[in-house]
Amino acid sequence: MQFETIPHPSPTTDADRAAAIADPGFGTVFTDHMVVIDYDEAKGGWHSASIGPRQPIALDPAASVLHYAQEIFEGMKAFTHDDGGLALFRPQANAARFNASARRMAMPEIPEDLFLEAVRMLVAKDADWMPPVEGGSLYIRPFMFASEAFLGVRPAKQYKFVVILVSSGNYFKGGVNPVKIWVSQDYVRAAPGGTGAAKTGGNYAASLVPQAEAIENNCDQVVFLDAVEKKWVEELGGMNLFFVRADGSVITPPLTGTILPGITRESLMAMLREEGLDVREEPYSIQQWREEAQSGELLEVLACGTAAVVTPVGKVASPDGEFTIGTGGIGQMATKMREKLVGIQHGRIADSHGWVMQV
Ligand SMILES: *Cc1c(COP(=O)(O)O)cnc(C)c1O
Repeated sequence: MQFETIPHPSPTTDADRAAAIADPGFGTVFTDHMVVIDYDEAKGGWHSASIGPRQPIALDPAASVLHYAQEIFEGMKAFTHDDGGLALFRPQANAARFNASARRMAMPEIPEDLFLEAVRMLVAKDADWMPPVEGGSLYIRPFMFASEAFLGVRPAKQYKFVVILVSSGNYFKGGVNPVKIWVSQDYVRAAPGGTGAAKTGGNYAASLVPQAEAIENNCDQVVFLDAVEKKWVEELGGMNLFFVRADGSVITPPLTGTILPGITRESLMAMLREEGLDVREEPYSIQQWREEAQSGELLEVLACGTAAVVTPVGKVASPDGEFTIGTGGIGQMATKMREKLVGIQHGRIADSHGWVMQV
């Protein structure tokens, strides 16, 4: 597909950009450009690809996404290597997962090559928005939504695929700190047969009230239990979990349809196996969690995702009281895995899996 290049009428000046990316934090410093590709069933599918100025998108008030929430997204990062080159981490996995989400939400798939081309083109175009800070990256947000004006309930026939970039510093200000997490009793994130395995905005909308409850209880994040028995630990609002045990095993909850198949999760499974650990995808109950934390069998709990990479869980709280994992600090395995993953992403550690793609 040919991309039309739309010139930017007033790009950010070098001085303004330097000021914006000096300490960008996470989620607010957007770059100058975006990619838009339209889909119309009547026009034979994907058409009219463009790369141009980042700007508001005009939507009909009846656009299906505003009523029935047909929307999916991805989260990925571009990094600078020491030789000055730019690299992506496992972008094919994001493209494949995007299409898996599309199928679940009755949306059209986008050819993986087109998804990757859009991402690479935009990253190359706005490369000078890479923040000059340790742990900095360009956070890439590809998304798709139903744009057709139609209030009947059925899959829409028109969509927009858009890619934007955010200049990002470290996700956690002040470096890595163990997080305290709140066990939600009243709310669930995903039910069997639902949309938990799709990266769709509705899952996040449903997590905001329990996340607010976590904050009210002096916790950083919420952890969800399974919807049926309220017994099995699933994941955080946007991160997967690993339980590192004294017997050399590491447990992560299995992908039964209610858990988002994280790319960091899959990468960590491979890296933990390289450490000689016995990595198992098995259900892990909240009761087992409390007991093994108290007995000392549980050494560490790692939360992982693209945005925050690997983060140790220090404490777990619920209306039944709280418990601490290990010393409540930053464990050895969390540090080791974080450094290794960041090292591979930045091209400082050999990429034996072929995870890194040059832009
Ligand atoms: C995106 C996401 C993750 C992490 O996935 P990564 O591919 O590792 O970034 C975990 N859980 C949920 C609910 C998510 O949306």
